[in-house]
Amino acid sequence: MTITAPPCPTGPLRGLRWLIKELDARADTVDAATAQRLLADANLTEQDVAPYVERRLDAYARRCVVHRESYELLVLTWGPGQGSAAHDHAGSLCGLKVVQGSLTEQLYAPGPDGQVRPTTATRFAAGQIIIDPGAVVHALTNTGTPGQLLVTVHLYSPPLPAIRRYAIASSPAAPLFLREASPKARVIAILGGGFTGTMTLANLLRLGRDAPAPLHFVMIDRQPAVGEGVAYRTGDARHLLNVPAGKMSAWPDRPDDFLAFARACDPSVGPGDFLPRRLFGQYVRKTLLDLAGAPDGRVSVELIRDEATSLAPASSAPGWSVTTAAGRELHADLAVVTLGHRPPNDELAHRFKGPRNRFVADPWSTLVLSQIGPDEPVLLLGSGLTAVDAILTLDRADRTAPLTVVSRRGLVPLPHTREPPATDDVSRLVAQWLDPSMPLTVRRLVRTLREAVASAAARGVDWRPVVDGLRPSIAKLWRRLDPAERARFLRHVRPFWEVHRHRMAPEVADRIGRLRDSKVLEVAAGTLLSSVADADGVDVTLRCRGGSATRSLRVAWVVNCTGPGVHDRRSTHPILRPLLEAGTLSADALGLGLCTDDKGRALTSGGETHPDLLVAGTLRKSTLWESTAVPELREQARVAAELALETVLGNRRAQGD
Ligand SMILES: Cc1cc2nc3c(=O)[nH]c(=O)nc-3n(C[C@H](O)[C@H](O)[C@H](O)COP(=O)(O)OP(=O)(O)OC[C@H]3O[C@@H](n4cnc5c(N)ncnc54)[C@H](O)[C@@H]3O)c2cc1C
Repeated sequence: MTITAPPCPTGPLRGLRWLIKELDARADTVDAATAQRLLADANLTEQDVAPYVERRLDAYARRCVVHRESYELLVLTWGPGQGSAAHDHAGSLCGLKVVQGSLTEQLYAPGPDGQVRPTTATRFAAGQIIIDPGAVVHALTNTGTPGQLLVTVHLYSPPLPAIRRYAIASSPAAPLFLREASPKARVIAILGGGFTGTMTLANLLRLGRDAPAPLHFVMIDRQPAVGEGVAYRTGDARHLLNVPAGKMSAWPDRPDDFLAFARACDPSVGPGDFLPRRLFGQYVRKTLLDLAGAPDGRVSVELIRDEATSLAPASSAPGWSVTTAAGRELHADLAVVTLGHRPPNDELAHRFKGPRNRFVADPWSTLVLSQIGPDEPVLLLGSGLTAVDAILTLDRADRTAPLTVVSRRGLVPLPHTREPPATDDVSRLVAQWLDPSMPLTVRRLVRTLREAVASAAARGVDWRPVVDGLRPSIAKLWRRLDPAERARFLRHVRPFWEVHRHRMAPEVADRIGRLRDSKVLEVAAGTLLSSVADADGVDVTLRCRGGSATRSLRVAWVVNCTGPGVHDRRSTHPILRPLLEAGTLSADALGLGLCTDDKGRALTSGGETHPDLLVAGTLRKSTLWESTAVPELREQARVAAELALETVLGNRRAQGD
């Protein structure tokens, strides 16, 4: 619902401060009527908001005025023509008032294919108000006269958990999204619609088209834009794929598929190019929608845009019962869990005092870093690819304040080479490691791998093909390590393995190098001892690596870049916790993911197999270790779809349907 109100003549003292005082006087979240009244009564002038107005050339600017538990207030500055993507506020109330300039709000209607289509557009002038109680999908644009700035004050209550961006459709939804499921349909539910979930659905559509029975596929994701997941949701064009385009096909049997898609956008793209991650998200979505648009037999598909809150064995029939936050309950004959990455663990929980509004717990949350100004010093915890993303977002031509990265060893991902490196044959090395007559230890692995790298260097071969050559055998090697050796690997070798294995695109490495050279960026080895926050910043104490020396610094923000959170009974996806506690599922002792058999069927704590509960994606790191990147996950999506169809159609035959 969008409500507009005429400008309200008010006294000169009813400015930003008055608004904050009024909001602070309310203990609870603000409702639509109160937001409307307060914003109408507030006399927000250009002078009032001037300290928060910031003109950016690359995107509109967001500056936080106050952030409380029940609400936050921001000032947004939009340059001429600048606008937002189609988005909603994930259930938070949004009230905005135009202070200066002219704004156009484009509304969208969500469709059954996960995309939105434009409906009405309205122009707003200074003094006018928009209220969204939490359900609107809209995009805002500065449509003032050439050169004119647009300045808006935004109230979110509760504070925005994240903005959810939508994909805009260019054609009507395919019939299979509109069709009612046949009462006799076998139902396959996919929990999580990132790359793995979306490609599982795409494989189901490809393989299930000629199935002898009606099929209904349901995919549930709290994020509206299918196919993006955590990795490809970024709107920042500087966030590049860390795998070259030629190796990023979503299909195991069509290696050039992504390259062809990218070349349709830009014919000059080569297989060795590292492209923006958001382009890959568009590709995955198009892959699904193209398949959905083909003639489709007796298949129906439902995309549910909601949080899946419970998964439990169905009580009245075989299969699984799934519930969502909005109260939807559905029965699935088979479920595929593709919930992927957890947000980073809260590293500061025990070492942080004071208000937490200057601590960014999840840097993957859309737009969360855009509120950090170029004059604000930032401490980033962790120095892996998540930190690299955050640095790129915080890096601006007008940045004057330093970015300090701290991690235990201060290791930063190594770069890819510009030319694809020659391959190296590591089969003899792998055969030695897999030889059942010799125990495999981490010490032996590291020693012989170092020797192999040295011998490759002597032949003029880089270390990268040696590391990459191991990739197809990693799951077998991981299985050969006993639990104590796996723990040793995580403790001592993992950081070194990660920086060699998950590398940066060369362009990204160049940028990081330049930032380090210019002293804007510092990477320190050490640990965080304490952090004490006040309203304006955080006092941090670090212990430097290799001694007892400490270092203190004052920063405006601390950003948690420690990467995906672990999976154990306490801290896995909330929906999996009760299943782990009941022993219906089991997680590995190292917190890497769920225990499964070779094909991805989930195991109980007693080691029994669930034939109708499959796991694919990063949650399989526990059994495969190498279960992170597209080249592995596309194969898992194919296998999960094949197995799912075989299981539900086999059950149907067994039940004589
Ligand atoms: C920042 C980053 C960059 C990366 N870059 C690359 C790259 O360049 N190349 C590469 O090959 N790999 C890359 N990866 C690896 C990445 O793991 C895979 O490529 C892939 O995106 C993983 O997809 P997924 O579907 O398994 O998991 P995710 O992307 O995590 O998707 C899981 C989905 O489940 C949803 N979800 C979770 N819980 C619930 C719930 N309870 N209810 C509803 N929905 C839920 C989430 O909203 C999410 O959309 C990157 C990873 C990250 C984190």
